[in-house]
Amino acid sequence: MNSASAGVANRTPLIDPFGRAISYLRVSVTDRCDFRCVYCMAEDMTFLPKRDVLSLEELDRLCSAFVARGTRKIRLTGGEPLVRKDIMTLFRSLSRHLESGAMEELTVTTNGSQLARYAGDLKACGVERINVSVDTLDPVKFKAITRWGDLAKVKAGIEAALAAGLKIKINAVALKGVNEHEIDDMIRWAHADGMDLTLIETMPLGDIDGDRTDQYLPLSQVRADLMDRWTLQDIDYQTGGPARYVRVAETGGRIGFITPLTHNFCESCNRVRVTCTGTLYMCLGQDDAADLRLPLRQSESDAPLHAAIDEAIGRKPKGHDFIIDRRRAKPAVSRHMSVTGG
Ligand code: SAM
Repeated sequence: MNSASAGVANRTPLIDPFGRAISYLRVSVTDRCDFRCVYCMAEDMTFLPKRDVLSLEELDRLCSAFVARGTRKIRLTGGEPLVRKDIMTLFRSLSRHLESGAMEELTVTTNGSQLARYAGDLKACGVERINVSVDTLDPVKFKAITRWGDLAKVKAGIEAALAAGLKIKINAVALKGVNEHEIDDMIRWAHADGMDLTLIETMPLGDIDGDRTDQYLPLSQVRADLMDRWTLQDIDYQTGGPARYVRVAETGGRIGFITPLTHNFCESCNRVRVTCTGTLYMCLGQDDAADLRLPLRQSESDAPLHAAIDEAIGRKPKGHDFIIDRRRAKPAVSRHMSVTGG
């Protein structure tokens, strides 16, 4: 790490053209994953050559530049972030920004496969809450959705994380004909262990092997259906992300709804995403991007990097344009979710 990036000298905060402060950075640390979820990746994926991927030191420098510009929360994602070699080195080095107070939260989105191994280390790095993606509690369906995953291993990872004192939010993509009749069970399971459950609509990102319109389940419909059996109370709870939360009176637990298609959440967008190659996407649902790898590699000084970030934030769009529509053969955005992370 060079001296310019070790600390985070205060610089001007990042404000986009619509007056939104950019305080949340999601970083995909690898495009590789040990699962092949059907709605996310094709089974036969070509991954990036190593030279194109930012080193852990470069990722640290990039994250630290954002922290210097007012980023308060960083989420590491992927691909599967916990399959990247030596990933704990990055968590450990970024934890200095928690200790200094420059950053409020360091967190991760994971499929849980490596949690039994890393839960204690994550907690020791100052991680307090994590998101674990689980779409079904049926081991056979789990295998069918993830193609390569093992539900028992993920559940063991979740137990290890709870035992380590991590708070967990379970993320489940709502899939028509797959898990739509399991949501009650998932609520009971998650809430029994004090975990939040967030339901996500499938987003039209990346070419996959099947047809997404077959899987799309509007959460407005799921919510209406849940209200027949559960008492859902609107609450103000916010985690800095796009979910809208309700409390379930019967369990005391929370359900989040992420509804990019039925409810546009762009007006309060406070985040940007960086891929493992250093490409900055100002919006998950648009193709416009800026290369931060060149300025990172071009100079030991962070000045070119900050100039590139400023230029990019100046182009952050007002909103995205997701449409799931049978007339459109192509996804709205051609890159996979594994490129920019969830
Ligand atoms: N491997 C990690 C995991 O499984 O959580 C992090 C990356 S994964 C791409 C992040 C989240 O995006 C997961 O919850 C996954 O289910 C979700 N996801 C992937 N493709 C999606 C899509 N097309 N629409 C909605 N959610 C998607």
